[in-house]
Parts: sequence; C-alpha cells; structure tokens
Amino acid sequence: MRITEVNTHLLVAKLKAPFAYSRAWYDTRTSMLVEIVTDEGHIGWGECYGPAKMTQAIVDELGTLLIGSDPLNSDFLWHDLYSRFRDHGQKGLLIQALSGVDIALWDIRGKHFSAPAYQLLGGAWRSEVDAYATGLYRRDSGNPLVYLAEEAAEYVEQGFRAMKLKVGFGVKEDVAVTRTLRETIGPDIALMIDANHAYDAVAAIQLGRQVEELDIGWFEEPVPPEDLAGYCAVKAAISIPLAGGECEFTRMGFRDVLTRRSMDIIQPDICAAGGLSECKKIADMAMAFGVRTNPHVWGSGIGIAASLQWIATVPTHTPLSLAPAQPLLEFDQTEHPIRQAILQQPIVQNKGVVSIPTGPGLGIEINRDALQFFRAAARHL
Ligand code: CA
Repeated sequence: MRITEVNTHLLVAKLKAPFAYSRAWYDTRTSMLVEIVTDEGHIGWGECYGPAKMTQAIVDELGTLLIGSDPLNSDFLWHDLYSRFRDHGQKGLLIQALSGVDIALWDIRGKHFSAPAYQLLGGAWRSEVDAYATGLYRRDSGNPLVYLAEEAAEYVEQGFRAMKLKVGFGVKEDVAVTRTLRETIGPDIALMIDANHAYDAVAAIQLGRQVEELDIGWFEEPVPPEDLAGYCAVKAAISIPLAGGECEFTRMGFRDVLTRRSMDIIQPDICAAGGLSECKKIADMAMAFGVRTNPHVWGSGIGIAASLQWIATVPTHTPLSLAPAQPLLEFDQTEHPIRQAILQQPIVQNKGVVSIPTGPGLGIEINRDALQFFRAAARHL
C-alpha cells in the first residue's frame, strides 16, 4: 500500500456568542483536518491542534514527503519526519502537524486490518469512558456567579458526574466562583479547575490553599508550561492534584515532566503531542512513574474519536478521592458548530458516559457535505 495524496481541510465556523478563558476570547472555531489517501482506496483522517493556517502549511509540506510511502510504516514515518525537522521543531507547530498525520495513518491501518485502532495498539481496557464537561467559560455580559452556577446545574441535569471550571481571573474572583459552583453541584459531582497558566507559583499557591477544602479533582495548568520548577513549588504547597501537559510535546518533552515529578496528572493532546503513536508511548511512560494520564481534548469529532481510541488503551489508575480510577474523556460542551457536523454518527454522552467506537480505524465516517460547508467559510478567514 502506498500514500497517493495528503490533503488538508481548513474549516471555520463563526460562533453565536463569544466566550473567554483566562488568556483570550473566542468568537470563531477552526479545525485543521488531515486526509491521507492510498492506492488501495483506504482513506485516513487526522486532526491538528493549534493555529489552523499554520499547521495547514506544515502538513502540506510534510505531505509532499509522504507521497509513495507505505502508510503502515507509521512509526518509521513519524521518526523520519521528526528527524528531518528536529533542528526547527521539537515542540509546537511541527509536532501538532505531525500529530494529524500520525492519527490519519492509524485510521488507515485500522481500515486496512478491519480493526479499531485500539485493538491494533494492544487492546482495550474499557469499552466506554466517563466524560467530564469542559465549559464554564466567561461571557461578555452577566454575573459569572449566576450564569456559571446555572451552566453547572445544566451539566448535572444532562447526566455529567464531573466538570471543569475556568479560573485565572484573579485569586479572589476564582475562590468566589469555585465556592459557588461547589455549593451548586453538591459534594458528589467531581469539580476540577483550570487556570490555563494564568498565574505564577505564588498566586497559584494562594488560590490552591483557599479552594483546597472544596474537594477539587485537579488544578490544571496553574503556571506556564515551561516553568516546571513552578509546578514543583505548587505541588509541594497544596494537596490538590496538579494537572498539565496540553502544551507539552512528544515523549522527550514528557520525560522531563515525569523525571522532575512536576505533575500528578499529565494531559497530552493527541492532536498536538505527537499523535496516537506518541501518546500511547507517553501514557505507558507515565504509568512507570506512577503518574495518571487524562487526555486533553479540544478538537472536532476526529480529535474526539482519536482520543477515545487512545483512552481505550490507557491503563487504569489508582483511585484518588472523587477523581475516578479510570481516565476521563474531556468533553468540550462549548459552542463548536464543526464538532459533530463532520461526523456521520455524532459522538454523544449518555448519563455522563461515552462509548468508544468499535469500527475500523478511528471508528468514524466523515460527512463531506459538512466539510464543504465549513471549508467555504474558511475562504474568508
Ligand atoms: Ca486546559
């Protein structure tokens, strides 16, 4: 089997209502999808996290190097491309581009062998996964203490047993909002907080100490990703598990996170950290260090499907308080018109649980009409 085409699809959708986290406002959602075509008719799909126009340019470049290669040699191809560009891209955009390519190659492998990707990776630890709601962002009007409590109550109503709150808006405001949310959802729903590296270690410790009593499942990205010493300082000062890693890349990047024991939970993003091949290796490595893996997921249906294939293979963790023993699916509930539209069968939660697709490869089929629709919107980007 040979690769004959590597196509990129840049999709854009304007949002009805903008929303913000601690770093920026969103008013559009973009997706950068990778389509790899083979001479045997198998087509593989992948997705790249990160700035879509920039990853598109890199995948277009990588694609020319892949034409004529055997797509089943995905590990070799990963290292070949990584080595070619090592001097310029050990982290960031290059690895995000490589991630989309690797995921598409796994989709092809699954279709070639008529098996889900997780089976070809050694088999599934689980057939379904608990999902936590990612949302609880800031809006451009209204009182966050009111609308965030309402949104949290809606997630409980929908069946979610866990959710994650955006913090990083000042320690005082964060403490007030976190306390209100805990009071709203009661003691039996897991609550995590995510600062998107808004703080330095001093402020993160101040926040952590004040919300410790609220049984927080994890404190995500308290400090900038490159400040591993800051992570260690926060970790030593508070009892809340520290999570991070959505801005870390490859097993070489996570090696440093793990050897320094800077996080309790690592959160590689399959569309950023190096793809399915690399994330499997990272999770196996984390297990050896006694560190939990809980993937970061922020993509379209392709990114979610790829994450589910990987989550199926992640070893079970030791139970910890309210934080479950199993890895969780981060299930973004913010507005994302592209997310489910590009799938023939949407990926849905039922009582907070998502089934892992069992079809070949990523287990999904793509709706090409939706691709056309959102590609057209991207021409105005
Ligand atoms: Ca995050």
